[in-house]
Amino acid sequence: MTKKGDMLYAWTNDAEIQKTAELGGAVTTLWKYALESKTVDAVLVIAKGKDLYDAKPTLVTDPAQLAKTAGSLHCGTVLLPKLIKKYFNGARDMKLGVTVKGCDAMAFYELAKRKQINLDNIYMIGVNCGGSVSPVLARRMIADKYGVDPDNVHKEEIDKGQFIIEYEGGHKGISVDELEEVGYGRRTNCRRCKMKIPRQADLACGNWGVIGPKAGKATFVEVCSEKGASLIDGAVKKGLLATEAPIPKGIEIRGKVEGAMFKLGDKCRAKDFEGLGEGKDRLRKIMEETSRCIKCYSCISACPICYCVDCTTKNPVYVKTGAVPPDFMFHLIRYAHIADSCVNCGQCEELCPAEIPNALFMHAQQVELEKMFGHVPGRDMELPLHAFVEEKAERARLANTHSDMIYENVFNPVPKK
Ligand code: FAD
Ligand code: SF4
Ligand code: SF4
Ligand code: SF4
Ligand code: SF4
Repeated sequence: MTKKGDMLYAWTNDAEIQKTAELGGAVTTLWKYALESKTVDAVLVIAKGKDLYDAKPTLVTDPAQLAKTAGSLHCGTVLLPKLIKKYFNGARDMKLGVTVKGCDAMAFYELAKRKQINLDNIYMIGVNCGGSVSPVLARRMIADKYGVDPDNVHKEEIDKGQFIIEYEGGHKGISVDELEEVGYGRRTNCRRCKMKIPRQADLACGNWGVIGPKAGKATFVEVCSEKGASLIDGAVKKGLLATEAPIPKGIEIRGKVEGAMFKLGDKCRAKDFEGLGEGKDRLRKIMEETSRCIKCYSCISACPICYCVDCTTKNPVYVKTGAVPPDFMFHLIRYAHIADSCVNCGQCEELCPAEIPNALFMHAQQVELEKMFGHVPGRDMELPLHAFVEEKAERARLANTHSDMIYENVFNPVPKK
């Protein structure tokens, strides 16, 4: 019997899935089992749309359709949890399986803390994530650095530190470091990301650690919950999936790669945050950049932490209506409401038509708050700092003292009697 904490190599016995899978096809095969066994009502995954720059959220209820959704789209930057909140009633009345990157998993937890998603009805299969490339930038990068028409590219992969493309008449790889030096490569939030193996999911799957005869042919699976363990056991019992113990050296290599990715993330954070300056200089820079804002609300609409029906930024007491750019208060409200829980998913930056580095600004503040209070967003169900004001005792204290110092108990804890 598989149990939480186990690690294994897994591969599919399904010939169709084998053809389209990124590696061993474990992820797609486990979804097949989950649908066939009615463990879930539907599966929400990312599938290739018009071309490989078009990552399309796809709901699958027919297991026969799953093979089409296998494979990794490195230009797939879509975040799925908010779609589940918006279009599937937060999974309150259906059981959903979802393939998640680290940022998806973190967003799920933050939405669940705010009671916008019912995690009991969600099965998450996580994929390790070294980073994704913005589809718009990818097209530009392929034309500029590879000298290839992006429309002629039929396959892309990231392997051994290179972004590799296959196109009519050849293939070409360029090191991700070299691409990033000239402003291409992974999104900047991905470079700062340290959620490489999403252990908040029920299973964490990837290629790191698969060595020996199974290299490139099996998926490395870490079992992160009992729910995940039962998916594995069920799929193996039905003959859909085969597994074997991983090579110990492979486990060691996987750990080392994860450690190296953390160090790289820290290095990118230091560089990006340093570039913002400190104190008033940082504030001035943020005010300058956000002065391009056209108040389109994309950042709010895409952010997994923004869920309010009546958004304060629409309250004319705080932000004058009909003015573009909006008062700086528009952005201050978001910083105040989100910064303690930002999961650095990059959505608010990627979708901003004014190209304002919103994720950088928010992530920089989140990291400062994490240093002060130790709260790490998206990792578990621990409540963020703001939740203190939701507590009855705290509300009563504010009412009784007529104080608006919501953090008073945090900065000056009341001594216990
Ligand atoms: P398959 O059976 O082929 O299934 C793949 C699943 O991933 C499908 O459900 C598909 O819908 C989903 N998917 C495809 N693209 C995306 C996307 N952009 N966002 C969310 N879901 C998606 N593994 C590592 O060990 N190291 C890495 O550095 C690494 N980087 C990755 C970066 C990205 C952007 C992605 C998407 C995956 C990455 N992986 C990485 C995971 C790896 O590529 C495989 O997805 C994983 O090993 C599962 O393999 P499989 O054959 O079992 O998956
Ligand atoms: Fe992957 Fe992290 Fe980027 Fe999300 S933010 S796509 S988990 S690297
Ligand atoms: Fe302003 Fe950009 Fe947000 Fe639109 S997405 S409201 S332009 S910051
Ligand atoms: Fe993601 Fe931006 Fe929201 Fe942070 S503020 S969680 S980067 S959308
Ligand atoms: Fe809610 Fe604040 Fe986000 Fe508006 S900016 S949706 S009020 S969290």
